[in-house]
Amino acid sequence: MATNVTTMIDSDRIAQRVRELGAEITRDYAGRNLVLVCVLKGSFVFTSDLARHIDLPMRVEFLGVRSYGEGTKSSGVVQITHDLTQPVEGDHVLIVEDIVDTGLTIAHLLDLLRTRKPASVKVCALLHKPARTRIQVPVDYLGFTIEDKFVVGYGLDWAERYRNLPFIGLVESSS
Ligand code: 5GP
Repeated sequence: MATNVTTMIDSDRIAQRVRELGAEITRDYAGRNLVLVCVLKGSFVFTSDLARHIDLPMRVEFLGVRSYGEGTKSSGVVQITHDLTQPVEGDHVLIVEDIVDTGLTIAHLLDLLRTRKPASVKVCALLHKPARTRIQVPVDYLGFTIEDKFVVGYGLDWAERYRNLPFIGLVESSS
């Protein structure tokens, strides 16, 4: 199934980094009401691994988003397809995102979540492609900085495929 995908970040490196991020978050949020907000669909794998490395009482919420764009390009216009199930007023919200590309999606989600009056909102992203930044957003916890390549696996898709790969990979162009 995955024969045309080459590995960019293998599962051992991901697991190691996720453990480190979990430990950092555990330290930083000790004694606070932490709510992880998993941005669907791409962050479902990252969030489930990260959550198991956070040694604190916490909640998990899911935010379904669909971003409109041409093909693989984000327009920053984000439709909420599934909203949080409980209020986050007064809570410390940590948005868990698969990848920050142009930054437009995270900028929109930060604006949206701030209207819910949380005590704080921060961002944890597995991947960041700084070469494509269109709007600067704070990425408070970052897994890996990558070059400007379209990646799949570990939750990330290409036309809904490849989300189940245990590593981050590049789809080889057949042309
Ligand atoms: P942004 O609004 O930062 O440009 O885009 C963020 C969203 O675009 C991500 O949550 C992800 O869904 C999608 N995206 C951006 N770059 C990639 C990529 O390299 N691979 C995949 N599969 N999705 C990407």
